[in-house]
Parts: sequence; C-alpha cells; structure tokens
Amino acid sequence: MSRYLVTGGAGFIGSAVVRHLIRDTGHDVLVVDALTYAGNLDNMEPVSNDPRYRFLEADIGDLSAMRRALADFRPDVVMHLAAESHVDRSIDGPGAFIQTNVVGTFTLLQAVLDHWRGLTAAEQTAFRFHHVSTDEVFGSLGAEGHFTETTPYQPNSPYSASKAASDHLVRAWHHTYGLPTLLSNCSNNYGPYHFPEKLIPLMILNTLEGKALPVYGDGSNVRDWLFVEDHAQALVTIAERGRTGESYNVGGNAERSNLEVVRAVCALVDRLSPDAAIGPRENLISFVADRPGHDQRYAINAAKIEAELGWKPRKSFESGLETTVRWYLANRDWWARIRDGRYRGERLGLS
Ligand code: NAD
Repeated sequence: MSRYLVTGGAGFIGSAVVRHLIRDTGHDVLVVDALTYAGNLDNMEPVSNDPRYRFLEADIGDLSAMRRALADFRPDVVMHLAAESHVDRSIDGPGAFIQTNVVGTFTLLQAVLDHWRGLTAAEQTAFRFHHVSTDEVFGSLGAEGHFTETTPYQPNSPYSASKAASDHLVRAWHHTYGLPTLLSNCSNNYGPYHFPEKLIPLMILNTLEGKALPVYGDGSNVRDWLFVEDHAQALVTIAERGRTGESYNVGGNAERSNLEVVRAVCALVDRLSPDAAIGPRENLISFVADRPGHDQRYAINAAKIEAELGWKPRKSFESGLETTVRWYLANRDWWARIRDGRYRGERLGLS
C-alpha cells in the first residue's frame, strides 16, 4: 500500500481523487490544501471519517509547512493538484495564478526534492511526483486536429500560461535533478462537487433557479469533456504505472460546443426537474460578450494512456451529464452554502 499526499485535495478534481483512493484502494491519504474560495471540506465528507484519511490546512507556497508535511507523512506519491483554476478569474487577477501555480509549484518542488534526496535508494526509486495540468497549455485548435503529448506549448490565458510554466518546472526538475516526475494534461472536467463558477454547474443551478444562462460569444467554442471520476482513476493509474519523465494526455472523447452543452443541460433539467413557472429552460439562454482571448477549440488525443496504461474513459458525455444533474438535484445543501456566500454566479473575467 502507498501513501499519497494530495495537494488541492479539497477542490473539485482533488476531492474526486481522494474519494477514489479511500473507497477503492487501500492507500493512505494526506490532503494538503489552503482552503481558498474553491477548497471545501464538504467535498471530502463522504470519506473524512476513514482512518486512512487526514487533512492539513497549508499553502503550497509555505516551504517550511511543506517540509514538515513531507517529513511527518513520508509519502510515496505526491499528487499535485493545488492551483488557481478558473480562466475568468485569471483575467481579472493574474497575480494569484503566478503566486500559486508558478511560485507555489516551485516551492513545493524544492521541498519535495530535498525530501526525496533524504530517502533510501529503494524509496527514491519508488517515489513519484505527479503534476496535474491542463490541455489549455497547448493553445487553441481550428476545426481539425488534436493535442498530443508532443504538441508545442502555446498558452493564451494567464491561467494556461501559469500552468505551462509549472509544467516546465516539473520537467526541468526531472531532467536536471532526476526527480521521478509524472505529468498529465487533461481536458475539461465535469461532475459532482464542481464549483458553480464553471460552465456546467453554473448552467445547472441557473436553470433550476430560472436565471439567465449566459453563453459567451456565439457559443461555438468547443471543449472535450471528461467525467471527473474517470479522470480520478486515470490519475491514480498514471501515478502507479506511468513512466517517469513522461507526460500523458487524458481526454473524454466527448467534444461539444458550449451551446450544445448548455442545451443538453436544459433538456436534462426540463426532464428531471420540470417547472411550469420557469418553462422550457432553453428560453433562458442569453448570448453575452465573449471572454477576452477565448480559445476556439481544445481536443485531446488520448491514445498514449490507452496504449501504455490501458486507461480509457468509461462514462459517455450523456450519462455523465445526467449523473451530474441528478447529483446537483440531490445535493442542494452543498451548493446552497456556496451560492449564499462565496459565489453568487456573477460574471467574471471581462476586464
Ligand atoms: P479547484 O479550483 O476546484 O481546486 C483547487 C484546490 O487547490 C482548492 O481546494 C484550493 O483550496 C487549493 N489551493 C489553491 N491554492 C492553493 C495553495 N496556494 N496552497 C494549497 N492549496 C491551494 O481546481 P480543480 O478543477 O479541482 O483542478 C485541480 C487541478 O487540475 C488544477 O491544477 C487544474 O489546473 C487542473 N485541471 C483542471 C481541469 C478542470 O477541468 N477542472 C482541467 C485540466 C486541469
């Protein structure tokens, strides 16, 4: 059994990894998370009483806290998901993205490298630092083509530039210092516990509340959609069996335009939660000013992870989206606490 230190484990994807590790494996887990607006202890509530789970509130930019966490917990795997993650927020305030995604990742790498150097030879060989990144580092595609692991980096937003910078740091720490690193770049995740600033949960909540459904530009921007629990399994597969120094693209084989996604949410909510006073939810769609610098299309070629590690997504977009809508309908307490305080659905990222 291994010991996983998961940074950002109180966030959307991190918490899916933690729930998967506790429920489906015998591994021990330490979550290290600063509990920013996006971090939420409620996300781990289903597993937080398990004796294999523990939590530390700490910032990855705090070198001594990272050193202590590594020395005390002695992980075999550090899975690094802590980040500022929302493109629109990066347009309004890029500083936090540089601080956490670039400086924070650098600080964590320094602490991890020192820790790794102090391990026995056998422990060093078994150790993994897995950095979780995004397909947005590759830039924007036209109508054709897919991102592969060798696509040149061309990040366009402050968010994707900060993630690209952190990817390069991880690569360099492997190449220069021999740290056994793994890197994965995945497409847009969706599913339960998704913070409602992102497209799918925002649309689900607005349809339920009869509010306008803001679609950026003409809604033609295309993303590949990956169900978060499929992603969590991919991440643990990479950590366990990936080749060090390599990167793996993870995708959902589900390209959809934003408008298609919003229409699919409307149809599901109409079916699962009809409301005569609100009427057909598609009537709530409203086209709004586009995001500055909005990338047109992302698409992932995930052939490498399938060929080398035997992973492929299990959920179709249709069934994943239905699971997601049903989860939001059954977990109003979870999102009402966020909607009442931390984020009310206002437009971000126009500046
Ligand atoms: P999220 O915003 O839901 O969660 C981020 C977590 O990191 C939060 O719990 C937050 O409290 C924590 N955090 C932020 N700054 C921190 C700091 N300085 N120190 C410690 N903890 C801190 O993000 P997510 O959607 O779960 O994404 C997780 C990772 O996956 C990120 O690295 C993101 O770039 C990457 N990613 C996300 C997607 C997606 O579709 N959501 C796609 C590709 C890649």
